[in-house]
Amino acid sequence: MGPSDLQRYERLLVQKRRELLSALGGAQSRVPAAGGLEGDLIEQANADEEAELQIRLHQTDGRLARAIEEALARIRQGAYGACEICKQPISEARLEAVPWTHLCRECKERERSAA
Ligand SMILES: [Zn+2]
Repeated sequence: MGPSDLQRYERLLVQKRRELLSALGGAQSRVPAAGGLEGDLIEQANADEEAELQIRLHQTDGRLARAIEEALARIRQGAYGACEICKQPISEARLEAVPWTHLCRECKERERSAA
């Protein structure tokens, strides 16, 4: 993989991270503001449910954000594009689709069937 490929993947990762952060910001503003004490119990329950859903979304996005950070770190370390388990190069088609991946398709499949 040449430096121009790395630069391209780095751009993809940085762009995805930006999308993710703006999505997180948008979700946060949809969470109902605290202090609705005069609302009845049903409304309060719905608000709690809504808040919990947002938290769950945040956790998923948080994992992705971390995976992106790790991929960017691998680019800086010159370790990007190699599978962490079998050390084989990850296919460019896969990196193109999931630039934050750290496993080749075979190892990912094996990990999923083991889980
Ligand atoms: Zn592998």
